[in-house]
Amino acid sequence: MTGPGQHDAERDQVLGAEHAEFALDDAAYLLGALDPERRSAFERHLARCQVCRDRVAEFGELPTVLARADSSAWQPEPPPDTLLPRLLRQVAASRRRRARRIAGLALAAACLLALLATGGVLSWQHAHQPRTLAMETVGPNSAGVHATVQLIPAGSATRVKLACGYPSHGSSYPYDHAVSYRMVIFNRRGDRFDLGSWTPQPDEDVQITRTSPWPRQNIGRIEVSDDRGQTVLRLRL
Ligand SMILES: [Zn+2]
Repeated sequence: MTGPGQHDAERDQVLGAEHAEFALDDAAYLLGALDPERRSAFERHLARCQVCRDRVAEFGELPTVLARADSSAWQPEPPPDTLLPRLLRQVAASRRRRARRIAGLALAAACLLALLATGGVLSWQHAHQPRTLAMETVGPNSAGVHATVQLIPAGSATRVKLACGYPSHGSSYPYDHAVSYRMVIFNRRGDRFDLGSWTPQPDEDVQITRTSPWPRQNIGRIEVSDDRGQTVLRLRL
């Protein structure tokens, strides 16, 4: 048989154990230093524990809490000299968590900015990358000759970058000697400007860069002719 007295004693024992667990949380609770989970656990304990309720009611504000930290007037278990260190540890831990959060956010922001900057530079480069334009072949002598052109603005002039490929010397090759080629450029009014000639070696691909006197928007067409003056490649702009 268990009488009401024994039941109360058991309940007190359970509450005492619980109180021992929460007895150090009152000051941190008042300072708002408990994490949410611990805070609601402490509040559940408060509802049951008169001792903790009284202490929380007594402690008005931080100075009081700290002033009471070494008071021996408190009832039972909590060794008073551990309250302040624990409080400070909790505050420090909360500060460290916040500092880590801020550092994390700052790092994320820095990464985002770096990504945006990189993306911006890449898209700027993409937008300003000169397009590679394929020249069309013209006439019977063009067999196998092919070229692309990039036009690169250079102040009021334009750099013309030509990449030219030649056929292997097969039966279709129309010449029986080393051919020289010449590049000429025309503006939109029809003025002609000679960009010079070159003689590729057999099977050689050639890259040449010459400067046109006109800005990009004034260029009408570019032509490559062989050494007989026959146009073999043309690019209309
Ligand atoms: Zn308690």
